[in-house]
Amino acid sequence: MKIGTYFAYWEKEWDVDFFPYISKAAELGFDILEISGGGLADLPDDKVLALRKEAERCGIMLTACIGLPKDLDVSSENEETRQNGIAYMKRLMDKMELANIRQIGGIIYAYWPVDYSLPVHKETARAISIRSVRELADYAKPKGITLTLETVNRFEQYLINDAAEATRFVKDIDRDNVKVMLDSFHMNIEEDSFYDAIVNTGSYLGHFHIGEANRKVPGKGRMPWKEISQALHEIGYDGTIVMEPFVCMGGGVGSDIKVWRDLSDHADARKLDEDIAQSCRFCKEVFCS
Ligand code: MN
Repeated sequence: MKIGTYFAYWEKEWDVDFFPYISKAAELGFDILEISGGGLADLPDDKVLALRKEAERCGIMLTACIGLPKDLDVSSENEETRQNGIAYMKRLMDKMELANIRQIGGIIYAYWPVDYSLPVHKETARAISIRSVRELADYAKPKGITLTLETVNRFEQYLINDAAEATRFVKDIDRDNVKVMLDSFHMNIEEDSFYDAIVNTGSYLGHFHIGEANRKVPGKGRMPWKEISQALHEIGYDGTIVMEPFVCMGGGVGSDIKVWRDLSDHADARKLDEDIAQSCRFCKEVFCS
């Protein structure tokens, strides 16, 4: 298994220059850096190629993640919105191919965060989403790209809230480059059992986000890491595990993730690095040994 981190631990905005975080992730002990698809889609090709070169130089695997905004909702009943979402995702996948990024996860089957002032038509949205994701998967296939559908809690989306729904969804899509993505933070809210959720997902699991219940770095809280690791080993999971800690307030990241208090214990830049490096060592011990 490969262990990574999402770049946003250090950032207050989603669309930033990811370049410096590639060597930083390597220096802190990670195998993977996950970047925001939002920032990548509009990056000029020379900058995309520079990311690729830097990742190769540092021995870092890049992965991408995005929650599509409302105006790019690929589960929308509005065909224009859906088409805009498809076109955006295709453009993003072109950039991913250039950057040698072969995996994208997140809310790429709907939009995020959900707007509950609007009515919810789950069955309709589900059918539209399946049609869209099939189209995206067929576009992704020759590029060697896998789409992983993130299972998130009910307050953020309604289409896929637990591993059972995610697995049914992926089976219905019926494309071998579409997989389930689980996240311990969301599972902590929605699943009866971490172990059962992972084991029942089995070979459909394609990506795993980790973090404590309050989104601190793994190892600082009460998440049952041994149970999670045991389940992953039992299903023979050999994929990517990326931590997604959010501990600092402010900016678009703080607001979207709802960080309304300092969860970093007033850490300065150096302490933030020390904390995440320690968590990386913890994860390698828990998951990889
Ligand atoms: Mn996540």
